[in-house]
Amino acid sequence: MSEEPVVWFNGELMELGEVRIPLLSHGLHYGTAVFEGMRVYDTARGPAAFRLDAHVARLLRSAELYYMPLPWSAEQLREATRAVVLANGLRACYVRTLAFRGTGTMAVSPLAASVEVAIAAWEWASYLGDEGKRDGVRAKVSSWRRIGGDALVPAAKASGHYLNSVLAKVETERAGYDEGILLDSRGMVSEGTGENIFVVQDGILSTPALTSSILPGITRTAVIEIARTLGVEARERDVARAELASADELFVTGTAAELTPVREVDDIAVSDGRPGPLTLRIQAALEDAFHGRDPRWAHWLDPLEPR
Ligand code: PMP
Repeated sequence: MSEEPVVWFNGELMELGEVRIPLLSHGLHYGTAVFEGMRVYDTARGPAAFRLDAHVARLLRSAELYYMPLPWSAEQLREATRAVVLANGLRACYVRTLAFRGTGTMAVSPLAASVEVAIAAWEWASYLGDEGKRDGVRAKVSSWRRIGGDALVPAAKASGHYLNSVLAKVETERAGYDEGILLDSRGMVSEGTGENIFVVQDGILSTPALTSSILPGITRTAVIEIARTLGVEARERDVARAELASADELFVTGTAAELTPVREVDDIAVSDGRPGPLTLRIQAALEDAFHGRDPRWAHWLDPLEPR
């Protein structure tokens, strides 16, 4: 195993330091790139990718929505992911796949530019911190609205979209909060800067629907399925801003943040300011799914080591 991290770039494994990205890459100038973030967990069956198929499918869909045909099939991308994790000897990690428009044209139309694909992996603790995951984080509604379907394609995970997240993140971070929440163009709740959001009221779980310009999170659908299996009603619907602070429980979900409770919104404590019982129950079930401890969710895990 090499000291330098190994990445997959356009079909080959190489050391990270060997990768050379041309300055005149289209994606660098115009944001013409799509990406995925996925996690691999250390399970009894070795390192296993959580919802690998769903992540590869979303990458291909994001690319298609921005007119970027990928020169690799879903199967090739799954194989490449496996190769990167194993080449780095990682047991548990975050995997970042990036597809971007390279060289060939500096015109705005990307169609004549090359398409480059890279996969990297590294160990990465839960995004909003282990303490945040245990005790909950403090969030604030940002003054920035979530990008809308009238200007971009919110359902695609595209690099350019993250300028919207950057604005909301910097604003709320500088104001002293752990995370920012964006409203959609109508003023309904959309999502966090890198997470989907869920409210619990009277034992019912609700989360904004695709009509609120959300990124269709892969952790989000896992949580909905887990809740329903546990006998909890889960709805996708418009969520009003005022429902956040007055909710019985509030949490965010994402590959990086996993399931992180929100204990305060706009300086108002959510219930008693401690993660609620349903939040803890779903979080525990999700952790069991991640780590392969519950056969009901075994189909979400892809063991990466050869058997
Ligand atoms: N919304 C945004 C803006 C995100 O960046 C993410 C993280 N990919 C999510 C939601 C959650 O998606 P997932 O559960 O697929 O990671």
